[in-house]
Amino acid sequence: MNAMTKLVSALQGAGYGDRLLRDEPMALHTSFGVGGPADLFIRAEHIGELIEWLRLARAHEVPCIVLGGGTNVLVADAGIRGLVILNACQGHTIDEDGRVVAESGVSLRELARHTVAQGWEGLEWAVGIPGTIGGAVVGNAGAYGGYMADVVQEAQLLDADGQVRRVQRNDLGFGYRTSALKRVGAGEQRPIVLEAVMQLRPGDVQELAARAEQVTLQRQARTPRGACAGSMFKRTQNYPAGFLIEQAGLKGLQIGGAQISPQHANFFMNCGNASAQDVVRLIEIAQEQVWRDFQERLEPEIELIGAWPEAAVLEMASRGG
Ligand SMILES: Cc1cc2nc3c(=O)[nH]c(=O)nc-3n(C[C@H](O)[C@H](O)[C@H](O)COP(=O)(O)OP(=O)(O)OC[C@H]3O[C@@H](n4cnc5c(N)ncnc54)[C@H](O)[C@@H]3O)c2cc1C
Repeated sequence: MNAMTKLVSALQGAGYGDRLLRDEPMALHTSFGVGGPADLFIRAEHIGELIEWLRLARAHEVPCIVLGGGTNVLVADAGIRGLVILNACQGHTIDEDGRVVAESGVSLRELARHTVAQGWEGLEWAVGIPGTIGGAVVGNAGAYGGYMADVVQEAQLLDADGQVRRVQRNDLGFGYRTSALKRVGAGEQRPIVLEAVMQLRPGDVQELAARAEQVTLQRQARTPRGACAGSMFKRTQNYPAGFLIEQAGLKGLQIGGAQISPQHANFFMNCGNASAQDVVRLIEIAQEQVWRDFQERLEPEIELIGAWPEAAVLEMASRGG
């Protein structure tokens, strides 16, 4: 029996067989709507399940990736080898001091809307950001001057060796659209965020609602509609990436089914039948052209996950500088 078969037996033996899917198309679980099949796929509703399955996968030496909303990834056309756990762990509490404890599968935007409605200040900027708390901590999601790093106090992690530990904000290594976790790279060595503790402040409900409404309107005006993963590149030290791509004359460029949005050049869209390879080709063209024209390196904000040739991922990172 190979490792995967043993893991399937272990999951079946523990009573999870009917929830385990095989060859699940990842295009169904990413906002880009691209990506080939995951060998094994299962949806975790409770943190206990997440921990148990991660430990089982590691014990059987089967690679395992935790996916949140799938809104910041590009999954390879060849799919993902091993187990993908979709994190739907939704529990959260807010105490009378504004201390929020949220499981990592909680929707960031729903939590933001909820806290605004309850008169807690600190997440208004996040009302339109898709994805989960776990993904937002990993990428230090932010918008309109707010960042996860401003509110996160501590996180509970599952380490690669299967141990659960709590880490304080300073040890999460937050930076612009990154964290100590993201720097590890997606894969077995990255600690998994189980829950995050955030500190909010009391605020005026009407004012908070007005600010959230303003953010929503601004976002609606600038975000192209359709399948994408948000901003493709981080801003460079000097310029917004979209400005550079537009100045390089690439707005609207289409390769296969993927297009650089004619509305906002840092959004790469799936026009309906894009392959992951089409998107990667557009990324390469944007990086090369912007470097040639402006000597500015574009670093992807999204992560490539799954069965990509390792060389392609490294090459893309190096072009991004
Ligand atoms: C229309 C649109 C608008 C967007 N606007 C913004 C914006 O304004 N600001 C912004 O910052 N981002 C934005 N994004 C990007 C994205 O929504 C955020 O980065 C979001 O925080 C990603 O969360 P996720 O749950 O979808 O992560 P996923 O895409 O599921 O995962 C991202 C990475 O984190 C890993 N991961 C996920 N959960 C965990 C976990 N619990 N523990 C460890 N690793 C984990 C995954 O394996 C993967 O490597 C936008 C995306 C879209 C589609």
